[in-house]
Amino acid sequence: MPENFQNFIAGEWVAPSTGNYFENRNPADWNDLIGCFPRSGPEDATRAIASARRGFVQWSRTPAPLRGAVLQRVGELLVQQQEAIARAMTREMGKVLAETRGDVQEGIDTAFYAASEGRRLFGRVVPSELRNKWAMSYRRPIGVAGIITPFNFPMAIPTWKMFPALLCGNAVIFKPAEDVPHTGHLLVEVLLEAGLPPEVIQLVHGQGSVVGRALIEHPEVPVISFTGSTETGAIIGATCGRMHKRLSLEMGGKNAMIVMDDADLDLALDGVVWGAFGTTGQRCTATSRLILHEKIHDRFLKMLGDRAGTLRLGPGLEERTEVGPLIHEESRQKVDRYVGIGKKEGAAVLVGGSTASGGALDTGWFYQPTVLAGVNPGMRVAQEEIFGPVLSAINVGSLDEAVRVNNDVPYGLSSSLYTRDVNAAFRAMADLDNGITYINAPTIGAEAHLPFGGVKQTGNGHREGGWEVYDFYSETKVCYVDYSGQLQRAQIDTYD
Ligand code: ADP
Repeated sequence: MPENFQNFIAGEWVAPSTGNYFENRNPADWNDLIGCFPRSGPEDATRAIASARRGFVQWSRTPAPLRGAVLQRVGELLVQQQEAIARAMTREMGKVLAETRGDVQEGIDTAFYAASEGRRLFGRVVPSELRNKWAMSYRRPIGVAGIITPFNFPMAIPTWKMFPALLCGNAVIFKPAEDVPHTGHLLVEVLLEAGLPPEVIQLVHGQGSVVGRALIEHPEVPVISFTGSTETGAIIGATCGRMHKRLSLEMGGKNAMIVMDDADLDLALDGVVWGAFGTTGQRCTATSRLILHEKIHDRFLKMLGDRAGTLRLGPGLEERTEVGPLIHEESRQKVDRYVGIGKKEGAAVLVGGSTASGGALDTGWFYQPTVLAGVNPGMRVAQEEIFGPVLSAINVGSLDEAVRVNNDVPYGLSSSLYTRDVNAAFRAMADLDNGITYINAPTIGAEAHLPFGGVKQTGNGHREGGWEVYDFYSETKVCYVDYSGQLQRAQIDTYD
């Protein structure tokens, strides 16, 4: 019998009110059943919200340095459990072990950053324009934060949201993606072991359209942070806008790497293989367009075709595997559909282009690393997010044209430029319309202590990570203290 995992609501591990569960299977071997997880109903979310409100009263009054101390312990426990969590994550999500170890490492870095922020949640004391009066600002917690996350970074993304939210004094309700509930479960266990008061964290598993929606629509969840598809983000944005909620959206990308004629081509090759096929292309920062200067176009594509064709597919738990499976069959079908669309639009399949099979690959959602050549910037495969191991190569004649092609998509997360010309690099950094630009490095590889996010349809202006996220999870309060003993009217009473 598979294990039935539970929700964590009101300080207890509990079964869902619906009595229903869903299966969680290994995408590299669908015969491997990891466990069954609650298919919760709206009542579970409602109970979690009521409990989180009690947790908030307690936690918001806990001094920030003490909240930071809990996050310090969280980081230490994640260090101890890094390998075990990475293995569990690869089993349920598919990406290779080196990457899931990195995913936990990002959680560790985020925990230690948050811990130190507990002694640094600065406000400001500012000179008042009036005598014998102090003016100051400080950061207050907001309330219950609803955290809704996708499957591709089962540890890093929840921690990017949750740790700053907690450090700022909010209570958290966590709704992990249906594909990665086990990692979510392990993360909540770590938080509890570290000494987080139980009602400060609630874990509610289930479908986005049911449980996620219940959190979004509940008036007592004033803060929502979401990472996922642009379509779902639009639905959430409409509700949060109507209800005047604070909302952070982090959504799709169509990230390009530009390789100029003066670039170190071997370096660029390593970069594009990692950027396009790492995490099997299932990163919002994945390189999905390769913009090549015409002078190196043919040579570089030849190098890429040779390399991409030899990447080793397999279960991520095997150390020699370079590319794991896709998350599920729907995703594999979507990738295959886009390859078909690309062919119809006139692109040529340079390498890959179909599902991968043979041996262990027959029981997983594998797809061959694919490069489409001869892609025009307007084609759907050059405009729409595929979220799989498909790279579209585009030929350009100049850096200006490359920048135009880079910018002419609805998304604006990350971009990358390979060149040895420092003037060109700095010019492009200003002109590339993205939240993140890498020079001589691929489109993936953000560091946890810098702000992360994109422009246009990728986000709604907020950033995760770094110092900016602490503004999102706290409210600025301003206090004036007049100790003059008389009425002093700002802008009216002035002194010589
Ligand atoms: P992806 O395609 O990357 O899985 P989704 O946007 O479908 O992205 O899902 C990301 C997260 O959003 C998941 O946790 C999912 O359950 C949740 N979700 C999906 N639909 C909704 C919705 N209508 N309201 C709230 N959350 C949702």
